[in-house]
Amino acid sequence: MSYVCELGTGQTLYLENSANQTFVTLSSGSSGQQQQASSGYQTGTWTTPPQVNQTSRGTIVKITTATGEYNILIQGSSMSVSKETLSSEQNEPLPIKPTEKKPVSSMKPMQPMQPLKMGNMEMNLNTMEMKMGDMELKMGSPSVKTPNFCSQCGAKVNSNDRFCANCGHSLT
Ligand SMILES: [Zn+2]
Repeated sequence: MSYVCELGTGQTLYLENSANQTFVTLSSGSSGQQQQASSGYQTGTWTTPPQVNQTSRGTIVKITTATGEYNILIQGSSMSVSKETLSSEQNEPLPIKPTEKKPVSSMKPMQPMQPLKMGNMEMNLNTMEMKMGDMELKMGSPSVKTPNFCSQCGAKVNSNDRFCANCGHSLT
């Protein structure tokens, strides 16, 4: 079961339900400059087709499944899912249509993985995947500190040290 919805912002939204998971793929840009973001959520099987609403907060996708209602908020290229009903002043339903077509890029939406268990360490990759958007944004900011050395004795000093801990030489 797949649906496609054209968002007013030049983005195309693909919604797919398979194996109890909802896959949301957001595709934007013109040909050659395609940008695509995908997320998978454990929602259960849809009981009705999803509803897409353009609101003042962003695009809200409402998914109704056997286990309840999920609201996916899309703001720009970021997505977040919530079990709470997201309400907004302006609510403009967007038409969605069933599709057989997959997102333009051949990249398949990432399959949400089951929690990994290794000994006493447990890692939930689903949460990691949702945080990946933020991580990518932070990757551009350089925060690597190059080690400093005392010009007097060559001992390693911290970049915010005012004096060398080894010889007391003033570093400022
Ligand atoms: Zn020194």
